[in-house]
Amino acid sequence: MQAPGKILIIGAGPCGLGAARELSMRGYRNWKLVERSHRAGGLAASVTDPQGFTWDHGGHVVFSHFGEFDRLLEEIMGEEVYRHDRSSYIRFSDRWVPYPFQNNLRYLPEEVAYDCVLGLIDAPGGDPSTDFATWMEAVFGTGITKHFMRPYNFKVWATPPERMQSYWIGERVSVLDYKRALRSLVFQEDDIAWGPNNTFVFPAVGGTGEIYRRLAERLAEYITYERDVVEIRVEDKIVRYADGADEDYDTLISTMPLDLLLHKLQPCPQEVRNAAAKLEHNGVYMVGVGYELELKDDKSWMYFPQDDAPFYRATNFAKYSPANVPESDTSTYSAYMTETSYSSYKPTSRSGLPEEVEAGLRAAGVVEGRPEVASLHLEDIPYAYPVPTLERDRALATAQGWLMDSGILSRGRFGSWKYEIGNMDHAVKMGVDAAAWALEQRPEELWTL
Ligand SMILES: Cc1cc2nc3c(=O)[nH]c(=O)nc-3n(C[C@H](O)[C@H](O)[C@H](O)COP(=O)(O)OP(=O)(O)OC[C@H]3O[C@@H](n4cnc5c(N)ncnc54)[C@H](O)[C@@H]3O)c2cc1C
Repeated sequence: MQAPGKILIIGAGPCGLGAARELSMRGYRNWKLVERSHRAGGLAASVTDPQGFTWDHGGHVVFSHFGEFDRLLEEIMGEEVYRHDRSSYIRFSDRWVPYPFQNNLRYLPEEVAYDCVLGLIDAPGGDPSTDFATWMEAVFGTGITKHFMRPYNFKVWATPPERMQSYWIGERVSVLDYKRALRSLVFQEDDIAWGPNNTFVFPAVGGTGEIYRRLAERLAEYITYERDVVEIRVEDKIVRYADGADEDYDTLISTMPLDLLLHKLQPCPQEVRNAAAKLEHNGVYMVGVGYELELKDDKSWMYFPQDDAPFYRATNFAKYSPANVPESDTSTYSAYMTETSYSSYKPTSRSGLPEEVEAGLRAAGVVEGRPEVASLHLEDIPYAYPVPTLERDRALATAQGWLMDSGILSRGRFGSWKYEIGNMDHAVKMGVDAAAWALEQRPEELWTL
């Protein structure tokens, strides 16, 4: 077996920290983690604004598919979490439809419900090798596609569905047949328990980022912040930082976005650079609106397929934890965390957006009247969703194949560029597996080429 030598991890998000924790637990000491920003957490970090509201980088719910993530959470947070049952809704014209939309057609205006069921009856069934636009119409029919699936997904992905694969959908979208839809409609039954995140936990203090802040604190002696990797000399196995300093490594685990990584590599074959250009992503503006308004809203989060609001989702953040509002005073404050996507297909101006979002919360019926605004906070997330385009897998095979041959593991949400394994639990698991591979070439269990 090859000796692991010095392992360098780039990025203190969930993936980098997952790798770091694994190395540390195995008693390995010849490693280092470097992070560009001044804090840990990456996309899963949280911020507290000057008015005292805490925000995540978009709605994060903590749920898990992996023992490695469950153990980490238990060890770091113990009982300092709230356990919630999901209570999520879709805003459709003047009403709230329980999530998932397609399972609860009885809440829709009659003519829309009729349209949706007719479409379902005619839908031939989907083939996951087709593009997302073709797939959604084949699975959900014309009605659900027109009223919900197409407008909602464009608001999230900021990408035409014709450019996207449908294969990624797996557990992310509830697929139903017309018999189930009819049953719910005729018997007036709710069908709301679907999905992997119907229960979730949330840190009692500090937002989602608290998990990674505490984890990073335990590994502090190995982590250097404000270390921005600007160049990687592949043959010499040396990284260069923005301040001109060099550092050598034997194995590199990178969690920065894959396209940016490929542009930092010297040398890098042209076909690999070309692959980088094929990778598409969107950006998201998180606008948090803090109100002087007693928390009475019992919903967890809400989806907005229609045009009355610029955002596609709003999270009732005071409900996740009272500590997300000033002095944990939910008798005085509410907090709504919204997400609005952007891309070249869907340009969105950030100027004026916070005010538009606040007006949207009122127009869409999330808040009633005109409560006093206590905080308007915007975070720009330029890399938010790695888009599963039709060209993605070919580009990934070219890029990742070459990186593996060069002793570089690019993992995590944007390191792997695979949305289907892009959640926090996946990122931690990819990090754990990358560390085990670096130490003993144990085959990875989640990420595949
Ligand atoms: C809007 C939104 C909603 C989400 N909702 C959920 C959810 O509900 N549940 C869930 O589980 N997950 C959710 N996620 C996903 C979750 O945030 C990610 O899975 C997780 O943060 C990915 O971790 P990572 O370590 O792979 O990458 P990141 O978190 O992106 O971390 C990468 C790190 O690398 C650092 N870095 C980048 N470039 C350099 C460089 N050149 N030099 C040094 N350091 C560098 C970055 O600063 C960053 O800290 C959501 C994400 C978004 C954007």
